[in-house]
Amino acid sequence: MPLYEYHCDSCGKEFEKMVRFSQIGKPQECPKCHSNETKRLLSRIASLGNSSPSGSSCASSGPFR
Ligand SMILES: [Zn+2]
Repeated sequence: MPLYEYHCDSCGKEFEKMVRFSQIGKPQECPKCHSNETKRLLSRIASLGNSSPSGSSCASSGPFR
């Protein structure tokens, strides 16, 4: 069975769970708050490239004049 990551909308917990193919796409119960308000996360393999211009670097003397 594949391992998937889920995010709980109720308490914000992220957890991994082995999910049967027939259960993929269905909400899984959060192990912390037992809520079903969970979403499946996409696999975190997209760590290449720099297509996320979140301005957290070059904080000193910005480009604005
Ligand atoms: Zn939860």
